Amino acid sequence: MNDQQDKLDLARKFLRQEIVACTTCCSRCDGDFIWTGPHTEAEDLLLTFEFDNDVELSQEEQEAVFDGMVCPNCGAGIEPWGEVQYRSEYDKEVQRLAEDVFRPELVDELERFAQHLKTYPYLGAIDKDETGIKICEAIRTVRSTYECNGIYYRARLFDSSGRMYPTSQMGNPDPAHVEVPEGRYNHFGQSFLYLADNPTTALREISPHKDGICAIQKYQLKLISNILDFRTDYGEMNPDLGILPAALIYGGMISEKPNGTSSWKPEYFVPRFIADVARYWGYSGIIFTSVYQTGNNLVLFYPPVPGCEPIGDPYPFRLKENERHFFRGL
Ligand SMILES: [Zn+2]
Repeated sequence: MNDQQDKLDLARKFLRQEIVACTTCCSRCDGDFIWTGPHTEAEDLLLTFEFDNDVELSQEEQEAVFDGMVCPNCGAGIEPWGEVQYRSEYDKEVQRLAEDVFRPELVDELERFAQHLKTYPYLGAIDKDETGIKICEAIRTVRSTYECNGIYYRARLFDSSGRMYPTSQMGNPDPAHVEVPEGRYNHFGQSFLYLADNPTTALREISPHKDGICAIQKYQLKLISNILDFRTDYGEMNPDLGILPAALIYGGMISEKPNGTSSWKPEYFVPRFIADVARYWGYSGIIFTSVYQTGNNLVLFYPPVPGCEPIGDPYPFRLKENERHFFRGL
């Protein structure tokens, strides 16, 4: 960093990158600022830049850096002595993750893995890039899990004579008596309990193109822990996931829709590989955002798990008119 102008430009870039709020845009309560993250005087933040880059700025250079500097959040002028909120380590992790998950090399690697599974559905752990092994380790080391509590919903269409099934037949089916089709997270004949956190989502998942009538059974979930959290939040990716799981989620690989008319559904191979890995590492299930963006789905691997009980009788459920209109185009 020889050139003085470069040094000043880098210092300005650093401040613009680090500052997330100032005294003008920060909320107040009874006259006190409500900072939602770490904060300090702007000139102290500049000292961090000098320390990190092993440079020293003269008084004139510091003034030059602040000349015309504005808050990236609200556009108000920033003075050296003014208090500013700066990016926390968590904020930086979120940003790094968002940059990492869309790296072209990673996107290509995951695409090769999906193709590998389409060719050899049972050989996920011996692909050339060793992506399967990396996914195994990444799922094992996810830093935080979800705990399910509260009411969840299970939907079934009416039977062939138009009647609702009783509660005893609203749970996951017994493969010894009923054909259990393959699903996003279960193999053919493998019976898991799929729930949703609202009735609309439960219905859409079983009947995305129909008129929207089904039977709903409520379930009370009590502290079912160790759920893999695959919910999506495009505003703030969860850094606890790690890069590979986040790339699989945000790259769309676990939410691809299969061709409805074909019995060959390779779109399910990656999510089912993940489900196998998750079960192997002892997770109870996976919670994930519905492709219809109306709520979350929950798949419980080994129902009936303790803490998951049906409550009341099934009841008929129909989408509201505005919901029917929204889904007609899908
Ligand atoms: Zn501001």
